[in-house]
Amino acid sequence: MASVFAFGLTLWIDNPAIEPNTLLILLFAVTFSSWMGGWGPGLLATALTALAAKWFMLPALHSLALQNYEAALRFAEYLTISLFIVALNAARRKAQAKTEDARGQAEAAWRARDEFIALITHELRTPLNAILGWAKVLGDGRLEPERQAAALDVIGRNARALSKLIDDLLDASRIIKGKLRLGIEPLNLLTVVTAAAESVRPAAAAKLIELTVVSDEAGVEAAGDAGRLQQVVLNLLTNAIKFTPERGVVEVRLEKAESSARISVSDTGRGIAPEFLPYIFERFSQDERAQKPAQGGLGLGLAISRRLVELHDGTIEARSRGEGMGATFVITLPLPAKAVALSKDTMWRQMRSGEFQ
Ligand code: ADP
Repeated sequence: MASVFAFGLTLWIDNPAIEPNTLLILLFAVTFSSWMGGWGPGLLATALTALAAKWFMLPALHSLALQNYEAALRFAEYLTISLFIVALNAARRKAQAKTEDARGQAEAAWRARDEFIALITHELRTPLNAILGWAKVLGDGRLEPERQAAALDVIGRNARALSKLIDDLLDASRIIKGKLRLGIEPLNLLTVVTAAAESVRPAAAAKLIELTVVSDEAGVEAAGDAGRLQQVVLNLLTNAIKFTPERGVVEVRLEKAESSARISVSDTGRGIAPEFLPYIFERFSQDERAQKPAQGGLGLGLAISRRLVELHDGTIEARSRGEGMGATFVITLPLPAKAVALSKDTMWRQMRSGEFQ
């Protein structure tokens, strides 16, 4: 369009006195086209205006042949300047697109940060409000003695929830910075699993959930960070109890194979939708459709658990036959060779020499 307009204008002017400047008008068309459209329209405008300039303005007129050296020089000059303009404009557009891209990314990062702060503030404020509220009621001395124990219980529960939230945030930050370290030691997986189960037994009892620990072995000797492995099993059990309705069943099972141990935590709860299953271990992932605000959580627990299991060279996977069908989380951990037969002293020596790493 710009080329046709420019060319029309040059014919309309058609004044021999200003004729040398008509090529400038054609150059304007090239500038405009490449400014708006980059390489493609710029090159097209160059080709069209060059043809028009040759046919109507440069001798021999009404022919594509260049009559003399001067005409050839002017034609080459026109082409060079046009292409230079197109290249400059294409580069400008590329830089502009890059800047816009960077701005879009920065805006997305700010939005994500704002959402994250809003989520954390909400999650921190909920237990804090409960603690402050009940502490005030207790402080006022208005509560009958028999209700004081219940108030203290609520305060304790919310303080623990706050502390877990902060621990999760610190762990997530350590994972991002690559600073999460394990203290590998010989351990008995049955002790780890039982300790985790015992710490959630009161929560299970409160919902009348049947919680069982099943193991074929009297114990499974392994090497790992007992505290961190207990944290993983505890997280799976806490979720299982959280997402299982009253009178449901939660089972943690420990099995030993040739060179690996398997810990599975299964429940008869609300299950996991198939479309959410692939993302369940992502940071901040929560099944929003099913999440009630009262259930809380930042969606960090499973992401941290997966990293902790991976640091033990193990794997963790989630299985569910769908919503309402319960869920099973399976952790597989490699066992050090002949671990069962080894005494703890021998395992220590092997670990120090790097055999278990
Ligand atoms: P949160 O601390 O928010 O529970 P998690 O990472 O532990 O974070 O869990 C992420 C999400 O995975 C939960 O919000 C829930 O939607 C889903 N989920 C985890 N465990 C179970 C389970 N046993 N049954 C059903 N859904 C689960």
